Amino acid sequence: MLLERDQLTSGSTWHAAGGFHTLNGDPNVAMLQSYTVSLYQELERISGQSCGMHKSPGIMLADTPERMEFLKMTVARGRYLGMDTQIISVKEAKDYFPFIEEKYFLGALLDPNEGHLDPSGTTYAYAKAARLGGATIEVQTKVESLEQKPDGTWRVITNKGVVECEHVVNCGGLWAREVGRMVGVELPVLAMEHMYLVTDDIPEVVAFNKSAGKEIGHVIDFGAESYLRQEGKGMVLGVYEQAGVPWSPKNAPWSFGQELLQPDLDRIAPSLEIAFKHFPTLEHAGIKRVINGPFTFAPDGNPLVGPVQGRTNFWSACGVMAGFSQGGGVGLALSNWMVDGDPGFDIWGMDVARYGDWATRTYTNAKVRENYSRRFRIRFPNEELPAARPLQTTPLYDTFIEQGAVMGDSWGMETPLWFAPSKAEAHDVVSFHRSNDFPHIKAECKAVREAVGVTEIANFAKYEITGAGAEAWLLKVMTNTMPKTGRIMLTPMLNENGKIIGDFTVAKADEGRYMMWGSSQAQVYHMRWFEQHLPKDGSVKVEPYGMKLIGLSIAGPKSRELLQRLTDDDVSGESFKFMDYREMEVATVKAKVNRVTYTGDLGYEIWVAPEYQRRLYQSIMAAGADLGIKNFGMRALLCLRLEKNFGTWFREFRPIYGPFEAGLDRFIKLDKPDFIGKAAALKEKQEGPKKTRIFMVVDADDCDVMGDEPIWVDGKVVGWVTSGGFGHYVNQSLAQGYIPTALVKPGMQLEIEILGERRKATLQMDPPFDPEAKRMRM
Ligand SMILES: Cc1cc2nc3c(=O)[nH]c(=O)nc-3n(C[C@H](O)[C@H](O)[C@H](O)COP(=O)(O)OP(=O)(O)OC[C@H]3O[C@@H](n4cnc5c(N)ncnc54)[C@H](O)[C@@H]3O)c2cc1C
Repeated sequence: MLLERDQLTSGSTWHAAGGFHTLNGDPNVAMLQSYTVSLYQELERISGQSCGMHKSPGIMLADTPERMEFLKMTVARGRYLGMDTQIISVKEAKDYFPFIEEKYFLGALLDPNEGHLDPSGTTYAYAKAARLGGATIEVQTKVESLEQKPDGTWRVITNKGVVECEHVVNCGGLWAREVGRMVGVELPVLAMEHMYLVTDDIPEVVAFNKSAGKEIGHVIDFGAESYLRQEGKGMVLGVYEQAGVPWSPKNAPWSFGQELLQPDLDRIAPSLEIAFKHFPTLEHAGIKRVINGPFTFAPDGNPLVGPVQGRTNFWSACGVMAGFSQGGGVGLALSNWMVDGDPGFDIWGMDVARYGDWATRTYTNAKVRENYSRRFRIRFPNEELPAARPLQTTPLYDTFIEQGAVMGDSWGMETPLWFAPSKAEAHDVVSFHRSNDFPHIKAECKAVREAVGVTEIANFAKYEITGAGAEAWLLKVMTNTMPKTGRIMLTPMLNENGKIIGDFTVAKADEGRYMMWGSSQAQVYHMRWFEQHLPKDGSVKVEPYGMKLIGLSIAGPKSRELLQRLTDDDVSGESFKFMDYREMEVATVKAKVNRVTYTGDLGYEIWVAPEYQRRLYQSIMAAGADLGIKNFGMRALLCLRLEKNFGTWFREFRPIYGPFEAGLDRFIKLDKPDFIGKAAALKEKQEGPKKTRIFMVVDADDCDVMGDEPIWVDGKVVGWVTSGGFGHYVNQSLAQGYIPTALVKPGMQLEIEILGERRKATLQMDPPFDPEAKRMRM
């Protein structure tokens, strides 16, 4: 049942420009957009209602070499999604949009799968199809409050009476925040004012239609931060201006109906000036009307979909900023999820669980404004965005800054990325190519591999699992067996479909007490899963530590000697073995110590309460001075793990891969009693994995892979890169990715398309650093 306080389309939908496209920075979201676009024909067929579709190719125009590189990268990424995009010349682009002043542009991307539709007709087509499928739609019915009953079902209180139901989906659009607040949730979503103008008829448009026999195509002009398309005999020109203005930053008024906001042409004038220079014909066109309307964004511009963690049977389907590109995909994911308990594909990029409670209303305001102003900007792979930062900091933040740390935002927390020789040099020169951090990361890697390095690891998720039922529960939700007291195990976590939804380090601290580490980004995502699967009798408790436990990792051949200098416990190799866990005093501080590190070297993770972190760090630096200790950051850590072919969560390990595809075989204990996903994992093993995670050495130039590049074999795209970069210690450009299992041959030659150029790569079975894994066991 859909409850609508006014009429259908009454939020941001009725005045939308109605454009749609499949391109998205996240390939998984791009697939859902592609599904949405393909749905309209079906919708028209089922409902008999026209969506007012105009399919016309779209072009994106590059006015700088960087944007040209970005377009080449976008085309390459689209290849393995089956997208039919291509790079065309500026001259060719004029076949779709004749008004281009050629001298301003270098080239364009052509996407045949774009167009625009009638927002109102489409909404009514959805509604009619839903009614035919058994849905009820109640208009003029405002939800005023939500009450949860003890059994988890809902009483939805409206101005017309009460609806009793099992699940509630918040698809309140402009009022999604207000609906969230009805259950005590502050969703990170904010509406921005958005302007587009419709011109009078333009004779050149009519002439083009006549001579070319087609409509003018859709255009994105990055330089002018504008989009354009034909409307009648004129044009629509929309702008994502720099000085964007939020609409109703605190509370959206319930009285807001089908109304428009006051246009402010001055605000979009800088973009219009560029657009008129780029497309001089438009400068002389009269303006028929200017639309200024609000619509919503999450901090990263993607929707907020899925069950809301900490609430029962309460779902989100809001923050949908491009409803006509994304609506169908959002609906599909949501309905799969509600019916089958799983969205059916990887929707991390739009999962409501990708934000923590640090994403407050004012944080969201700062980030949404930043995102709006960057809608048509490139984000370089080494680019950190500044709004609302620093947000969370550890006690070492200032110490690191003083030492030249370049910080990155890791799930709201400041984390050292790399260390420059001085504060003055501590910034990234953003680029698709190797950049100014290169020699410094190299030096950090060398220190770890040859002496000892220290890095902050506060940004891991950490959990304590306690209770009489803790072990049985862990055995049920995880794929591996559980460790003995004082030992550590690595374990993936699967969903019922046997796909990877987590990758954890578990230590048994005591009977009925486990410590567990996972990806910080996935903390809410994982807590949601844990809560859904905890026994109802209270026999198991899972508690995230958040910032109450933060850590430093020391790694490298001299790390044991360093640790020994800080403790009177025996930490010799015989006493404190690889994969041991110990609660001990380090530098007089109570610490939980893991003998593992993600560097693949001898090393330790030392976890302490935040009030002791400075002391621990100072002690490590003092005791390690004559051992050659050096700070290393997240980028060096990721490089070191790459040299060992370790996978990472959300790159190599995601809910689109099975554990055997991902090469996690040794952590899947099919001979232990039932665990979630066992039957599907067994099937994967019996049938054999369809694709396989591979490791490649790349013949790169000055540009390493960034992720999502296509992998070519014999002139065909057969797979994609998940992550990679330069392996500084082994002095090779490295990449990980997936290709069909049937193709995998040790030493085989492949190609990876980096920024539009196919570079040779060699498939390697063993990691280039320490293939026998002796260093970790030293
Ligand atoms: C100027 C402009 C141009 C745009 N151009 C495009 C474009 O070209 N392409 C594109 O894809 N997108 C475009 N958009 C964005 C698009 O409009 C949105 O993505 C889309 O409308 C979002 O739809 P929604 O259903 O999530 O939210 P909304 O349209 O806001 O709908 C939410 C509905 O929920 C109802 N509601 C809220 N609270 C309650 C309650 N308590 N009880 C009952 N009912 C309630 C509201 O009345 C409303 O009808 C544009 C938007 C604007 C403003």
